[in-house]
Amino acid sequence: MTQAKVCFIGAGNMTRSIISGLVKHGYPSTLIHATNPSQGKLDALQHDFAIEVSNDNAVAAQAADVIVLSVKPQLMEDVCGALSHLDLANKLIITIAAGIPAARYQQYFKQPITLIRTMPNTPTQIGYGMTGIYAEDNISAEHKAICETLMQSGGKTVWVDTEEGLNQVIALSGSSPAYFFLFIESMIASGIKMGMAEDKARLLAEQAALGAAQMVIQNQQLSLETLRTNVMSKGGTTAKAVETFQQGDLAGLVDKAMNNCVARAQEMA
Ligand code: NAP
Repeated sequence: MTQAKVCFIGAGNMTRSIISGLVKHGYPSTLIHATNPSQGKLDALQHDFAIEVSNDNAVAAQAADVIVLSVKPQLMEDVCGALSHLDLANKLIITIAAGIPAARYQQYFKQPITLIRTMPNTPTQIGYGMTGIYAEDNISAEHKAICETLMQSGGKTVWVDTEEGLNQVIALSGSSPAYFFLFIESMIASGIKMGMAEDKARLLAEQAALGAAQMVIQNQQLSLETLRTNVMSKGGTTAKAVETFQQGDLAGLVDKAMNNCVARAQEMA
């Protein structure tokens, strides 16, 4: 089953991201199927990636080796319930939904299933994704390898030992692209207020973000504090800006935001 027939239930943003990565990495589009109630997203996926599409979850799931559950968490019970009449004994089910614990899916499907939980993020669509993966002890090495192959097509993967670990993955990477977008957005808004043209403000802020991320990645031997203090000279401009963030307790605010993110994932369970 190294190149399994994969069916995505739900053809929204995350499905598009993962399929885009898969096809780019040479996964045969004939082995990929996506389902969705509305036709527009299916037409676009078929047009862009030449995959199979349909509106019938049960027929598509029955024909697949691997079923990827990619609907919003609040729809999951109904979507799984409508597939519970299928024989799922030999299928691998992968869910990308936030919050819902693995045991809950057994109840939704009303039968024992082979399930792996994953938590990807949207940079998957450009190959810079990060996915946390959790599997219970009974999941085979072959199934784990299939899941890794699918998720690594859009970036990197990390295994976590507990389901709570997945909630931490949500705070650190599932949701965090939005934190960085907000920060860059705020920098651009401030630059514009200072009188900089919007396109130049965006270029300056985005290139700084890219450069900073690459410096972190390419200098694993250096701590973040060292990278930061290397930019700061005593009494200088950077020190003044960083001091302002610290006086506003940026670290405390980030900690609060991430804890609220985890708490929301726990509430959704
Ligand atoms: P999305 O863009 O809203 O996609 C969900 C899709 O499910 C929509 O296209 C929707 O179709 C479709 N759908 C609704 N009812 C369905 C049904 N009965 N059968 C099949 N498809 C159905 O959401 P998303 O951002 O891709 O999120 C999908 C999952 O990924 C969620 O569980 C979320 O927790 C998880 N996730 C998201 C992110 C993220 O950054 N977005 C990160 C990690 C994990 P219509 O629009 O036509 O109703």
